[in-house]
Order: sequence, then C-alpha cells, then structure tokens
Amino acid sequence: MGLAVEAKDLVKQFGNIRALDELSFHIKQGEIFGLIGPNGAGKTTTLRAISTLILPTSGSVEVFGLDAVNQAGEVRKIISYLPEEAGAYPNLSGWEYLKFMAKFYTKNASELEKIINEAAQISGLADRLKDKAKTYSKGMKRRLLVARALMTKPKLAVLDEPASGLDVLHAYYVRGIIKTYVKEHGVTVLLSSHNMLEVEYLCDRVALVNKGKIVVEGKSDELKQKYESQNLEEVFAKVVGYA
Ligand code: ATP
Repeated sequence: MGLAVEAKDLVKQFGNIRALDELSFHIKQGEIFGLIGPNGAGKTTTLRAISTLILPTSGSVEVFGLDAVNQAGEVRKIISYLPEEAGAYPNLSGWEYLKFMAKFYTKNASELEKIINEAAQISGLADRLKDKAKTYSKGMKRRLLVARALMTKPKLAVLDEPASGLDVLHAYYVRGIIKTYVKEHGVTVLLSSHNMLEVEYLCDRVALVNKGKIVVEGKSDELKQKYESQNLEEVFAKVVGYA
C-alpha cells in the first residue's frame, strides 16, 4: 500500500526560532500515527505544514502523492484539520454548524443530509445538537468539532490534541470515535498529543518529537521493548536523556 504522508527533511524557521529541524517521517495508508513530545517541540508546526496552512522553509511534504506546497488546493480536498484550539460558531446550534460546514463538501440535499446525520452520530450529542454551541461544555464542543473533522470521511484527518482538556468520559468518547470510525472508514489519521496513554491506545505507530526533530519512531510495544521501558513516557525520558 502507498504512503498517506511523506515528510522529508522539513525545516520551518520562524525568525530565529527553528521550529522544525530536518524532520522526516511517513504514514502508511489507514494508519493512526501519533506525534508526541514536549511543549514547543514542533508538533503543531508539523501538522500545519502537512495541512498546507504554513509553508515549510525547506524540505517537502507529500499527502497521498500530492505535493503540499505546489498542489495545496488538491491536498485540501482530501484532508481535514482539527486545530488544538478551535471553536464552533457560538450562536449557531450544533446542527446549524454541522450543516454550514457540510455545505462546503456536498453537491446536493441528499448528500448533505447524509453527512449531517453521520456527523450527528459521531458527535453523540443527540438532542443537544438543537442548542446553541455557546451553551456547550468544552467536551461537547470538542465532540462537535471532531464530528466536523470526520464527517466527510477525509483520506487524511489531522487532529491536533483531539482530546486535550477533556474530562475522562469525554476524552474516552472522543478516543473511541477516532479509533473505531477511522478503522471502519479507512481514514488515515495524524494526531498530536501530550497524553502518552492516549497515544499508546490509539496509535499504530508513534514518533517522539524533540526540538524540531523526530528522535525515535515505531510501534509502542517495540519502543517499550527496545528501551526496556514500562511506558512511552519512560521511553521518551530515556531517549532525550532525562532518565
Ligand atoms: P505544544 O505542545 O506546546 O502545543 P508544539 O510541539 O505543538 O507545542 P509548536 O507549536 O509547533 O510546538 O512550536 C514549535 C516552536 O515554534 C516553538 O518554539 C514556538 O514558539 C515556535 N512557533 C510556532 N508557531 C510560531 C509562529 N507563528 N511564530 C513564531 N514562532 C512560532
């Protein structure tokens, strides 16, 4: 099977800050791939470069064989991006928001209805979808946004901290949706997280990012074995020399 994402020697310079420092990795089609690493490591910058939201200073990104710089318009048609801090329109109800967003992707009323119903299912918000988004808790908003990101069955979903700041139950729900929905519909996922348990549960492969570089990459079990560690946190600490 071909590659969903191939990032090669990505460099992103913001003034004096080298956010990405020759970072390379690939994601196979159908994989859930996780980037983990400390604050400021370069995770969001990587996700944004792959989602065509920023231009790399140098290096290349291909998404399903399309160049993320020269074919950005084509890439945008097959991906969806969930930013870490995103909001829905506060004065629209959940339904109205989903409908508004779905209209960008659909050609006729029946397609629109299908996508919105799909999104409603994913969100699990049931009757609360009738209420304005400003009345939602943080967890409910995130569920709405995750539904928005997945409802079109993108070839690649790029999810920045999908369950960040959520309580145990909302986080559990969101992770469950990502895991089942994605596998059922053949969506490839690139996500970032600070939560090592989340990453271990969700991801087929993970990459540890530190100072703009991938310092280690592989399946969680293999990494734990290789670094004789109980969990990914310990792997990371050993790799970056804290342990
Ligand atoms: P966190 O876990 O805190 O979200 P991260 O791994 O996602 O961190 P990035 O947001 O990618 O890290 O940031 C990487 C580096 O790039 C940081 O030093 C950050 O300050 C810098 N950076 C990111 N975006 C910009 C920008 N627009 N302008 C200037 N510097 C930036």
